[in-house]
Amino acid sequence: MSESRNSYVIIGNGIAAAGCIEGIRSADREGKITVVSKERHPVYCRPLISYYLEGKSKLENIGYRPDDFYEKNGCEVLYGESAVKLEPGRVLLSDGSALECTAVCVATGSSPFLPPTQGYETVPEGRRFSFLTLDDALAIERAADGNSRVLIIGAGLIGLKCAEGLHGRVGSICVCDLAPGVLSSILDAETSEVFRRCLESNGIELMLADSVERFDGQTAVMRSGRTVEFDLLVTAVGVRANSALVADAGGEVGRGIVVDDHMRTSLDGVYAAGDCAEGYDVSLGARRVLALLPNAYMQGHAAGVNMAGGDECFDCAIPMNSIGLFGLHVMTAGSYPTEAEGGTVLREGEGENLRKFFVKDGRLVGYILVGDVSRAGVFTALIRERTPLDTLDFGLLPSFMAFSAENRRKKFGGVV
Ligand SMILES: Cc1cc2nc3c(=O)[nH]c(=O)nc-3n(C[C@H](O)[C@H](O)[C@H](O)COP(=O)(O)OP(=O)(O)OC[C@H]3O[C@@H](n4cnc5c(N)ncnc54)[C@H](O)[C@@H]3O)c2cc1C
Repeated sequence: MSESRNSYVIIGNGIAAAGCIEGIRSADREGKITVVSKERHPVYCRPLISYYLEGKSKLENIGYRPDDFYEKNGCEVLYGESAVKLEPGRVLLSDGSALECTAVCVATGSSPFLPPTQGYETVPEGRRFSFLTLDDALAIERAADGNSRVLIIGAGLIGLKCAEGLHGRVGSICVCDLAPGVLSSILDAETSEVFRRCLESNGIELMLADSVERFDGQTAVMRSGRTVEFDLLVTAVGVRANSALVADAGGEVGRGIVVDDHMRTSLDGVYAAGDCAEGYDVSLGARRVLALLPNAYMQGHAAGVNMAGGDECFDCAIPMNSIGLFGLHVMTAGSYPTEAEGGTVLREGEGENLRKFFVKDGRLVGYILVGDVSRAGVFTALIRERTPLDTLDFGLLPSFMAFSAENRRKKFGGVV
């Protein structure tokens, strides 16, 4: 490798940034890398913040990379600093200074979103929280005690992970959601029901198909008319991509920063990766933000390689989740088309051992595996590669052989 005169700026210091650093260094050992980090922590594994609350992970074990990661990769990290503006060839910081660079990666993640709710400001400071960062987890830990009544708004992954983290160390936990089921953006109705039963059997109170109409101090008045008294409020309704830097500079932004399969934005020399970016989901055949850890790393890596003059394409993104809650495990991938959308579903088992495979146009496009997650890697590869099922040796896929010959003939066009 020849000596490089490049200088790179990475905005954000999460998983996508770590991928970007490693991507750059795989192609350029010399160029200067500066990381602008709003958070005052080295990169950590965000999903572990609930395990920290639960007492299963210690603070020193939630780092995503070893302590000498930045030093070994020759990076300068500006902790507690924010990028406020992108200009051609430079990034302006909140302290008024500017960083000149040959390429920049926007890896700014997302921010919590709460629909405007009457009286939210009457909930005292120190009693209302989000659950996205390590500092959120530390603040909740400081505020919670064995008698705390906790109200969590949002029965998605983040809200339920918070519930699991606090379980056993607070007085009570109530989770509400406008949707009729839990994990509604990840599971279908049947598997969502399996998780609902599991949560309730662990003492989590659920208020589904209901939402907060207004707050009055530490009381939530629900649309259903019920009232909930709480000591701690955690809002986990959803997140929004932090895309303003690119939008303000005139770059293309949808629900996230629009990127191509090389993580290039529409602005010259500006790349984006992770939860802030909107890429192509091959299982859906459409662009979307895939706010998932492996996706953030792989996009960041591709961005880094390409910023340093290499060529790495990332064009096989799909939604994927591996979730453990109260001892129940599920793995999901891809999409779940209904019959009306041209999909068919193959199912195996029941309840906490239920496996569902979603097939469309002769290809596996999604799965939900509750309990038994064996061979998930093979199924994921079939979805990512868009492999026609009639090209497969079904002897390699015992799961599919479990379906009757007639069923297989019907679903896979008579090839097995
Ligand atoms: C509780 C929880 C559980 C999760 N569980 C899972 C899971 O089981 N599986 C899974 O795949 N994913 C999970 N996720 C999601 C996963 O953690 C994210 O997809 C991943 O961390 C995204 O990485 P990122 O680098 O894109 O963004 P982030 O990790 O959010 O990092 C972005 C960083 O940029 C900083 N920043 C923003 N704007 C600026 C600016 N202007 N200047 C400087 N810095 C800035 C932010 O402060 C932040 O530190 C979970 C997330 C949470 C919160």
